[in-house]
Formats: sequence, structure tokens, C-alpha cells
Amino acid sequence: MQIPSHIQTTIRDQAQSDATFNAYIYDLDPMHHKIELLHSIMPQGVEVFYAMKANPHPAFLQTALKAEVTGIEIASLGEATKAVTSGFSPAQLIYTGPGKSIEELTWCIKNSIRTIHIESLAEAHRINALCEKLDKTQDVLLRINADFDIHDAQTTFSGGSKKFGIDEEQLDIALPQILALSKLNFRGLHVYAASGVLSVSDLLHNCKLVFDLTQRIEAEYSGVQCDIIDFGGGFGVDYLESGTDFDPKAYADGLKTMITDYGFAGRHFVLELGRWLTADCGWFCTEIIDIKTSRGKKQVVCAGGINHFRRPAALAINHPMDIVALSKEKLFEAQEFIRKEKVYFGGPLCTSADKLANDVYIEEAHIGDIAVFGLAGAYGLTMSNVGFLSHAQPQEIVYAANKETS
Ligand SMILES: *Cc1c(COP(=O)(O)O)cnc(C)c1O
Repeated sequence: MQIPSHIQTTIRDQAQSDATFNAYIYDLDPMHHKIELLHSIMPQGVEVFYAMKANPHPAFLQTALKAEVTGIEIASLGEATKAVTSGFSPAQLIYTGPGKSIEELTWCIKNSIRTIHIESLAEAHRINALCEKLDKTQDVLLRINADFDIHDAQTTFSGGSKKFGIDEEQLDIALPQILALSKLNFRGLHVYAASGVLSVSDLLHNCKLVFDLTQRIEAEYSGVQCDIIDFGGGFGVDYLESGTDFDPKAYADGLKTMITDYGFAGRHFVLELGRWLTADCGWFCTEIIDIKTSRGKKQVVCAGGINHFRRPAALAINHPMDIVALSKEKLFEAQEFIRKEKVYFGGPLCTSADKLANDVYIEEAHIGDIAVFGLAGAYGLTMSNVGFLSHAQPQEIVYAANKETS
């Protein structure tokens, strides 16, 4: 991995003091450009929402706002509050996720958010009862656990037994009940197959199956129209640096053809994107505190571990990484260092699960240098075990062209 020069400069500027350096550095430019790119290539009717669980830092929400996403996909009341604080209106929020509480649903119904995505029959009845109490109606989508999955995805959300959505096979029992709930306004379907998909044809195949399902429902239930079709997220990121970036233009073109083929023009097609918009906006940068040899292998211990950057351990992968050399003074003459070898990187936590990278080839590294992990803008700090061992949280530094601010 090549660390961009402005990120290297930021690290050198910020790591000068005696304080241990341990930080996420964010540059929001890639996110802004990607949202603008989607606006320019996607067919008519496609609406881009930011799935904010990928990174809820205010800079990401503000970038989404400035780049004019249609809205924010939330999965909790906390996310709703952050989105509204950053300038989004409740009418721009869509709410997906299992286990929505009464408090969360009440806020969403009272504030008339755009759509709530039903995950179960119990939830449909709960929303309807709250609407009756509050004397409101609510637009809803039905989330389907489709009978297909994408096998090589990083995480799948449909196929098999899942806590997400209602099984496709139960649709004929569930849908009539939902349609009969008088306070719910059925607007369409939500089918989110998988996250981290690099293959455009796999994701398009998912769209086709959702379109087929839409046609079947509309043929079977007269008067029912799915005027919103939500594909969830899923655009993948090339964490393994295999040279296979997701191709948004191929996806846009394929979707456009499909919309025409099915005669679906005039409907809303929702994309809830997290990872692809944000992964390359973040670097996790952590100081090397110790280097030692243990039974023939170098162990590198950093200031932050899975408490600050859990993804590599959780997904059992190495993120792209490199070293920023700071040429700190040695503590003693025979101090160990790394030169052209494969090593283990861990954090300071007292568990062997605390892995940042394993068998990763490093040209050169010394105690006091900064280990930098790329593609850390998505599912970074907030997916980590921040409370475990009570270490201070890393800084979050937002890069701005002419100044850096914390
Ligand atoms: C996490 C999530 C997303 C975002 O997925 P990415 O793969 O990061 O794009 C979108 N929709 C829902 C419902 C999610 O849970």
C-alpha cells in the first residue's frame, strides 16, 4: 500500500510531540467524489442513501449532506439523532434493522421519517399499534429474506435462516396481514443480499431476482404496487489488493437495462451504501511501542489494537498497510527492528485475539514508527471493542486541504 503524501505529512506533523500517536486520519474527498460519480452515472429513479453505520463521524455525515445524497439509512435512534444534528431532516431518514424498540419507533413515527423497513410480523403489528396511538400513518417497506445468497461476499444478509426480514416463503402469509394494517402505507420491498461484493454481475443478479419478486407480488395481489425497491448496500472494496475494484459504471448500465426490460421506469430504486463510499477515506495510524523476537518470529506491539481497529481480527484478513518512519532515538544499542521480513502486529490488549495483522511483509520498521492501516474509513472505530481494557480512545483527525483539525 502506498500511503498518500498528504496523509504522511499529517502523521509527521501530528506525531512530533512526546505523546503516543494513535489516531484515525480521515480525508473525505473520495466520499464526495464517489457520491457525485453515482449522481452522474446512475439511471433515473436511483436514490443514494448513506448507510451511516459504516462511519458515523460528523465529517462523513456532513460530506454526505454536501454531496446531496437523498438521505441517510439509520439503524438506531442514536444514528437518527446524529443524522438530524448534522443537518438532515427526518423526512430524509430510512430505518432498517432487526429489534427496533418502542422508543425508537415512536420517535420515527412522530417525526414522520421517510420509510420504516419491516423486519418481522411482530414489528409490523407493533408499528401499526404505535401509529394508532399517535394517530399517524407511516410509509413502510417490507424486508424480504430472499431464498438466494451471494456466496463469496464478506457478509451475507439473506438466504438461509436469518434474523433479517421475512422469509420469501412466508410472503403469502405475511403480506396480506401487513396490507390489512390500516395505519401502514405499503410502499415496496427491501432486499439486501450481501455486503462487500466485488462482482457487479452478482449484485445485478440480486437486482433481477428482486425485480422478479416484485412482478410476482404485483401479479398476485391486485392493487399492490411496489413503487420503492430498495437493494440495500453491498458495493465491495478490494481489501486484499487483488486489483478487482467494484465497477459502479458497469452496475449502473446493467441496472438501467434491467429497469427498461422490466418496464419499471418511474419507480424509486434505493441504494444504501456504506463501505464503498467510506473505506478509502480512513487510515488507522498507531505507534509501534515494542518489537521483539519470540521463538523465531518478530512480534510488533502497537498502541492500539482490536479496541480501536477490530476489522482485521473480526474478518480474519490483513488490511493493506505500510510504515511511516519517524527515526526516533534508540532506547539501547541492541534494540530490535524489522528489515524485509514477515511479522505479526498486535495491540496492547491482554488477549491473543488482539491481532492487527499476521505474516505481513514489512520492508523496515522501528520502535516509534507509525504503522498505518489503509481502507479503515468504513467499520473502523465504532465497530471496535473500545471499552475493553479501558484505554483512551484514538484521536480522529479530519484532513482539510490547508489545515488539519481534530
Ligand atoms: C450495513 C447496511 C448497509 C450498508 O452496507 P455496505 O455493505 O456497507 O454498503 C446498508 N443497508 C443495511 C440495511 C445495512 O444493514
